[in-house]
Amino acid sequence: MRTVTYVKHKTVEIVHKPIPAIGSDEVLVKIAGAGLCHSDLHLIEMGDDSPLVGSTLGHEGAGYVHEVGTNVTKWKVGDPVLVSLVLSCGECRECLAGRDSQCHVASPRGALAPAAPGIGTPGCMAEYIAVKSYHLDPLGDLDPADAAPLADAALTPMHAINTVRDRLTGDATVVLIGIGGLGHMGLQIVAATSAARIIAVDTDPEKLKYAESHGALGILSNKEAAARILEETEGRGADVVIDFVGVQPSVNLAVSVIAQGGAIRFVGLGGGSFAYTAGIVELPWGVNIERPYGGNRSDQREALALAQVGKIHVDVVHYPLDDASRAFEDLHAGKIHGRIVLVP
Ligand code: NAD
Ligand code: ZN
Repeated sequence: MRTVTYVKHKTVEIVHKPIPAIGSDEVLVKIAGAGLCHSDLHLIEMGDDSPLVGSTLGHEGAGYVHEVGTNVTKWKVGDPVLVSLVLSCGECRECLAGRDSQCHVASPRGALAPAAPGIGTPGCMAEYIAVKSYHLDPLGDLDPADAAPLADAALTPMHAINTVRDRLTGDATVVLIGIGGLGHMGLQIVAATSAARIIAVDTDPEKLKYAESHGALGILSNKEAAARILEETEGRGADVVIDFVGVQPSVNLAVSVIAQGGAIRFVGLGGGSFAYTAGIVELPWGVNIERPYGGNRSDQREALALAQVGKIHVDVVHYPLDDASRAFEDLHAGKIHGRIVLVP
C-alpha cells in the first residue's frame, strides 16, 4: 500500500509498504482521509536521525472498517470510523479517572508525545491502518474524508476549552490566537458551547474575516494587539487565552493580556518561551497555565456530537495522498484555510 513516509529532514515521500496484518483485537481500517496537522511539519523538522525517520505519518485518520479481528464484536465491515489520536490503555489510573490523554502506558513521563498513530506507531497517511478496536469511534452520518480532522484539530481545542469551562461565563472574554486548523475548530467550539465573547487573533487577515463571520472580533497579530485587547476588556484583560501557535509573539501576547485569575492554555508548539520569576512579577495573581495534550475520549465524543448535529464543521481542503509533498509545502507556506485532508 502507499504511505506518506518521513524519509529525511523536511522530506516526505510516497513509500510502498505491506498492508498490515491485524491481531485478534484489531480492526483494519481503509483510510478515506488523513488530516495534515502543523505538528507533522514540526515532526519532519527533527532531522535525519530522528527515531521517526522511516515511519508513516498521520495522526488524524478516518475511514471504513475493512476487516475485523477474531475477537472483535463491536464493529462490522463498512462501518465509518474515526481513529483515536491518543492510543490510551483504558485501564491505568489516569484513564479510569477520565484523563486518558495522560495515560500512564501511552504517555510515560518524558515521552516525546503520547503514543499516537503517526507519532511512533504507523500512521493514517496510508491506504490502511491496523488499530485496536478500542481506539475507534463511530462517525455516524459524517463522511470520513471530511471528518478525519476531528481526531485532533477538533479534539485538542475541545479538550483545552473543557479545561477552562468554568471560566467561560456569558460575561467572559476568550482570546484565541491562531485561527488555523486547530483554531478554526476552537472558535466554533467556543461559539457552540458558551456565551463568552471571542476575540480571534491571527497574522492573516483572511483568517480574521472567517472568525468575524463566526461572531468573533478579529484583531491582527501585531505590536498593537495587546493594547487593543486590554482596551476591549476595559483594562482587565482576557479571562482565557488559548494560544494555538506558540511562537514568541503569540506567547508574549498571551502573557501580556491575561486577566488576574485568568487561564492560559499553550497548545501551539512554535518554540516561544516566557520567563517566570517567583516574586513580584508582571504575571497577574491567580493565573492558571496549562500545556494540554490532545484530549480525552470524552472530549472526542463531545466534538463528534457537535459535528454530527452541524454545530461545528471542519473546513477541508482535499489533496490526493500522492501529492503529500505539495500539501506539506502549502501548509508550511501558510496557504491553507482550515485543514488539508489527504485522500488515498
Ligand atoms: P496551522 O498551520 O493550521 O495554523 C496556524 C495558524 O496560526 C495560522 O492561521 C497562522 O496564520 C497563524 N499564525 C501564525 N503566526 C501567528 C502569530 N504570530 N500570531 C497569530 N497567529 C499566527 O496549524 P495547526 O495545525 O492549527 O497547529 C497549531 C499548533 O498547534 C502547531 O504548533 C501544532 O504543532 C500544535 N498542536 C498541538 C497539539 C497539542 O496537543 N498540544 C495538538 C495539535 C497541534
Ligand atoms: Zn496534530
